[in-house]
Amino acid sequence: MKAIQVSEHGGPEVLRYTDVDAPQPSEEQLLIDVSFTGVNYIDTYFRSGTYPQEVPYIPGTEGSGRVVHDPKGEISEGTLVAFNEAVGTYAEQTVVNRNRVVAVPEGVAPEVAASMLLQGMTAHYLTEGVWHVDADTSLVVTAGAGGVGLILTQMAAAKGARIFSVVSTEEKAVLARAAGATEVFTYSDDLADRIKAANGGEGVDVVYDGVGKDTFDFALDVTRRRGMVCSFGSASGDVEPFEIQRLNRDGSLFLTRPKLGDYTATDDEFRLRAQAVARGVEDGTLSFRIHPPYALEDARQAHEDLQARKTTGSVVLRVG
Ligand code: NDP
Repeated sequence: MKAIQVSEHGGPEVLRYTDVDAPQPSEEQLLIDVSFTGVNYIDTYFRSGTYPQEVPYIPGTEGSGRVVHDPKGEISEGTLVAFNEAVGTYAEQTVVNRNRVVAVPEGVAPEVAASMLLQGMTAHYLTEGVWHVDADTSLVVTAGAGGVGLILTQMAAAKGARIFSVVSTEEKAVLARAAGATEVFTYSDDLADRIKAANGGEGVDVVYDGVGKDTFDFALDVTRRRGMVCSFGSASGDVEPFEIQRLNRDGSLFLTRPKLGDYTATDDEFRLRAQAVARGVEDGTLSFRIHPPYALEDARQAHEDLQARKTTGSVVLRVG
């Protein structure tokens, strides 16, 4: 089958389109014909070696497609599913644990189904697990027009929260506003002060920061006394080591560096979050903006654009 393979860590150029053997499902897995695969920022960390990953490997963990074989015979051939935690999805076929799939609701486009789980479940645990966002919550989200950012904004807006979204361009600001952000900001040295002024002179309850290195100081500055800094990603690089005493000085802050796997650790928790996202997509309360899909063989271009901040919303590769 055709797939993208990484044989050495490096930049987007190490994503090579090639022929590999099709995977064989274990008893607990399903074999899937992939329609679309999601491209996520975490794929760039594995590719570069920032996160440990043996080579050679096929990138990607989520997507949509049709079941072609269930060794247990429980799920019929042809069933359309969305999945996460699959093993190598930048490929014509992949295998995934049977408990990490959901049926694609009627009328949901396969490219939306392909990108809804990883980013949707992330936004879900951030707003329901890390901090219980409600109508009294004020929050900051950085990369507010990115894949996670737009969905998190929609989920928080539906709860009536005050959302201060931070983006790099006016085009992205338009998208963040349409997703429900209360106010949108572009970067400046006095960003924390401008947001506090917009929040009645107070810091915010929680900061959701997927940018990392470049925005960590800002995140500490803009959080209220006893508020939460949720550093959930490193698009600009890893946060530098810092003095823990800063959390005390800046107002007894809480700091967490969470990951999706710990908030979908059990099958029940995975199902709860996956179904909440799928329901939201089906009833229209969640709208995934899909950046124009790339072909599988153009995975390199997709990574280049994602890392050059050229994409908005969710990024997918068309496979089958
Ligand atoms: P995005 O679509 O949000 O793309 C990344 C965005 O980060 C860019 O569009 C850009 O937005 C912003 N950014 C700021 N500085 C930089 C920089 N120096 N280089 C590149 N981008 C920069 O990606 P995802 O939605 O896939 O992921 C967002 C973040 O969430 C990532 O850090 C990812 O690792 C993290 N994540 C964490 C999870 C977890 O469970 N911990 C799960 C899923 C994602 P702008 O131009 O507006 O600044």
